Amino acid sequence: MKLEYRLGNVHCAGCASALEEILQKIEGVKSASLNFISNLLVLEINDHGHNEIKENVTAAIKKFDKRITLDDPHKEEKRAKKQKVLEILEYVSLAVSFAIVLTLFFVDTNNVLELCLYIFAYLIVGYKVLWQAFINLFKGKMLDENFLMTIATVGAFAIGEFTEAVAVMIFYLIGEIFQNKAVKRSEKAIKSIAQVKAEYATLVLDNTEMQVTLEKVSVGDIIRVKPGERVPLDGKVIEGACYVDTKALTGESQERYLKVNDEILSGMIVTNETILVKVTALEHESTVSKIIELVEKSSNNKSKTEKFISRFAKYYTPIVVGLALVLAFIVPIFSLYQNFSQWLYRALVFLVVSCPCALVISVPLTFFAGIGAAARNGILVKGANYLEILSGVSTVIFDKTGTLTLGNFKISNIVAYEDKEEEEILEFVAYAENFSNHRIAKSIVEEYKLKTQKDINVAWINGAAEIAGEGVQANIFGVDCLVGNRKLMTDNNVVGEYFSSPNTIIYLAQNGTLAGYIEIVDQVKPEAKTTVEALREQGVKTVSMFTGDNEQTAKAVAMQVGVDCYHAELLPVDKVKKLDEHEDNKTKLAFVGDGINDAVVLSTVDVGIAMGGVGSDIAIESADVVIIDDDLSRIPLGISISKKTKRIVTENIVFALGIKALVLVLSTLGIANMWLGVFADVGVSLLAVLNSLRALIVPKRYKKNKTLDKTK
Ligand code: ADP
Ligand code: MG
Repeated sequence: MKLEYRLGNVHCAGCASALEEILQKIEGVKSASLNFISNLLVLEINDHGHNEIKENVTAAIKKFDKRITLDDPHKEEKRAKKQKVLEILEYVSLAVSFAIVLTLFFVDTNNVLELCLYIFAYLIVGYKVLWQAFINLFKGKMLDENFLMTIATVGAFAIGEFTEAVAVMIFYLIGEIFQNKAVKRSEKAIKSIAQVKAEYATLVLDNTEMQVTLEKVSVGDIIRVKPGERVPLDGKVIEGACYVDTKALTGESQERYLKVNDEILSGMIVTNETILVKVTALEHESTVSKIIELVEKSSNNKSKTEKFISRFAKYYTPIVVGLALVLAFIVPIFSLYQNFSQWLYRALVFLVVSCPCALVISVPLTFFAGIGAAARNGILVKGANYLEILSGVSTVIFDKTGTLTLGNFKISNIVAYEDKEEEEILEFVAYAENFSNHRIAKSIVEEYKLKTQKDINVAWINGAAEIAGEGVQANIFGVDCLVGNRKLMTDNNVVGEYFSSPNTIIYLAQNGTLAGYIEIVDQVKPEAKTTVEALREQGVKTVSMFTGDNEQTAKAVAMQVGVDCYHAELLPVDKVKKLDEHEDNKTKLAFVGDGINDAVVLSTVDVGIAMGGVGSDIAIESADVVIIDDDLSRIPLGISISKKTKRIVTENIVFALGIKALVLVLSTLGIANMWLGVFADVGVSLLAVLNSLRALIVPKRYKKNKTLDKTK
């Protein structure tokens, strides 16, 4: 079972991972993952005794840090006010302290007064760090940042480097303040996605209207949306026609025209006319809520790099502190020019750079920003791990129907055998397909209704069953019908004449004899070819297509789209088997499907991408990446976002470790001073955080600039 808490006052990424580790050790907790940006704690716990586990978790959090709050927005508000006051005090003390140091630098005073002033300046800026260090000492957290900073500065006092002791503390705090601000900023930028959620819905009930909160609306209710308003819940337009702006969902500010019976998604903005919408999804099931939830939870799926960094952080600090001890106490013994305070000073610089904060904060932040950027462009990535894999994808396999093609079938030909009528063929096929969710079925039923102006009378349908990848079986007006491809017919020993055509042929067998067939055509999506080209440009080595459709149709589509290879006439299970051919340890495999019968394949590959899946729960469950609309060109865009994210992560790692290593070497040689140490600590951290914000900006090259309108 899963538990979720929204924590308040989690101050740093370091604390977040420390807390995670503590919670993980609690009996009954299988896994704990805390995202320090959205402050969402997700715990997986044993089903039995969960009350006790909950209590233990709460107690552990309180023991870890009394200030952390659990799901209490009210307290949070009060706290925020108090926080503001504290912040101002902090600025004042920084200014005073800085002024004292500056004055003492220029004015000569007697030694005792000078020392007193320095100590005063030190205490007013550093009291918080000192206090935390003191507390942590009793908790056995010797390698805590506060503790190390305290040792470093007190040490500097001890060897008479007063100015540096105070200045290091001042700059450390300034760095922390800026860094927190930067993290907050990015948090805001990412959370702005959540602002696409409407706060109320206008419910229409027997000619009266009222504004209600979203939870109050149920499926089937009718709501009114006026121009300029955000659509609060997913639904169907039942009255009126309008243009909607899809920017919040898809990243580009293009308008789409919607009319009666069209699906409308929460988050869209109605721009010109008032419409009535019949709600089809509850609040927490609507598109916007799903997006927000996905993005928030996504960083709880950590990438390999993040895991590596947390492991690295565990060793880095003890090693650097160990080296500092060697430098302070062992080297001087063997050194020819014995100058203890000089070696001690060098060791103190080590302590200043011993926190891996720059990485611990910036790496997850970069991934989170990347996921945010993708989400704002209609690409939902379910975890940092998937975003990372996406950057190195080498094989992309597409499903055909509904993925490379529009899946909007049109009947091009109806053929009736012997004594049958064309109308009868269409009627039987439409009836048999009525309960199927397949795109073929939906298209045929729709066209039947349109052509004949008749509705389906469900009483005439008896026992309809879907045969995945082949067709359907049903009893209509007492006639046993098989509707589907040639394989379905031959599997059931239906004899007759079969054709091959670049179009899809749907045969109808009545009581075991072939009665006729319907030829249907689908269209390749306009962006399919350029998408395949873009993927190649991005270093994807193999682009392939899998389909359950016949060889001829498959070949025609493959040629049009320009894939490297294709496999036709595959049943859903065959698709999984065929994957093996493409798989070896080195290739990173992506499968793009429409989620209708691709669930298994989607969950088997390294990264499963579902098209237009927001409406389909199966796709949401089994895919790792969901493309909000059916637009293929979002895949190269997603890959380029992931590449950029990965690049920024690498930059930050190289930069942070490089500077730290350099300062450590220079300090050993006696060239670096404490000022440089502070820069290598908080300065680098701040720069890395600022750099990670770049991941929010979407690379121009693959950004879409054409309209996605298909209805106009
Ligand atoms: P794809 O892999 O192209 O998405 P599917 O595996 O969904 O295709 O279906 C493969 C083939 O099976 C279709 O091309 C069609 O011939 C047949 N088929 C599947 N479902 C149906 C159905 N409901 N009605 C008619 N034919 C169907
Ligand atoms: Mg399909």
